[in-house]
Amino acid sequence: LAAGEYGPERPGRVIAHYGRTLDVQNDAGEASVRCHLRANLEGLVTGDRVTWRAAQDAEGNIVEGVVVARSERQNVLERPDARGQLKPVAANIDQILIVFAVEPAPHPNLIDRYLVAAEATGIAPVLVLNKIDLLPENGGELRALLARYEALGYPVVTTTTARETGLDELLERLAGRTSVFVGQSGVGKSSLIDRLLPDESLRIGELSKDSRKGTHTTTTARLYRLPTADDAELIDSPGIREFGLIHLDERQVAEGFIEFRDFLGRCRFRDCRHRQEPGCALLEAVERGKIHPARFASYRHIVDSLSET
Ligand code: GDP
Ligand code: ZN
Repeated sequence: LAAGEYGPERPGRVIAHYGRTLDVQNDAGEASVRCHLRANLEGLVTGDRVTWRAAQDAEGNIVEGVVVARSERQNVLERPDARGQLKPVAANIDQILIVFAVEPAPHPNLIDRYLVAAEATGIAPVLVLNKIDLLPENGGELRALLARYEALGYPVVTTTTARETGLDELLERLAGRTSVFVGQSGVGKSSLIDRLLPDESLRIGELSKDSRKGTHTTTTARLYRLPTADDAELIDSPGIREFGLIHLDERQVAEGFIEFRDFLGRCRFRDCRHRQEPGCALLEAVERGKIHPARFASYRHIVDSLSET
């Protein structure tokens, strides 16, 4: 292969992007290579699986590459841009870790908001209760809250960054998957990520020496491979951490409460808004104890807040 020529097509994953410049890594997990996008490709995001070709210098070192195709996405995480339009920010994510903490105490309504937003993406949510070192002996209320979510089928993991062993459960959960962390400010997301990615240089992203010229910084999402868990990947950015407050319509909210799904469509009126309509299957389910009143109240609260914005 002559210097400057592109080699054969190979699979890769976008680990960061800066406009039309991307850092791509082989699935093998080697150093990433700075690539540009073939002209007909648009809107690639971190986590995208791609086909790319590498260019080598006279010594046979890979110096740069070109991305020639994008594989179909399993799913995509979107965020509103400055104009309020939804834009993809990351793709091919296995789980959304919704972090909340013993302190500041979680508002059940807030957890439901995150769950509904996660359900709308089709990415599996996991609840992470951090700061369990602050949980009082009789942390009954919080445990009851967690039990309610576990009964719905959501995995719940408890963590603390205050103790050496506080992350074992989380590491098991991260292994073999691509994850994102979301949650309110102050719950300990940065602390958790600092512990998972202790090496600052890893966090900046290991770019192969030869393609490191011209440093770019970015506030967009970046994919990290965790040294602390087996085959675990983390996609992170300030924007992703704030995920959960996106705009949804009333129907998406109802469907985001997974235990409602059995009852939706069974109301007497097709356009039932589940307020006080006769023959409302949801209201009946609450009465018969099939839907927890707190979850139903939360649903109402979220729907009411939609019309305010
Ligand atoms: P973020 O805003 O979600 O990124 O939260 P930070 O990681 O900045 O953490 C907020 C505060 O909580 C900091 O003062 C942390 O030291 C503290 N913190 C984080 N994890 C824990 C924990 O497991 N236990 C206790 N007691 N404090 C924690
Ligand atoms: Zn109804």
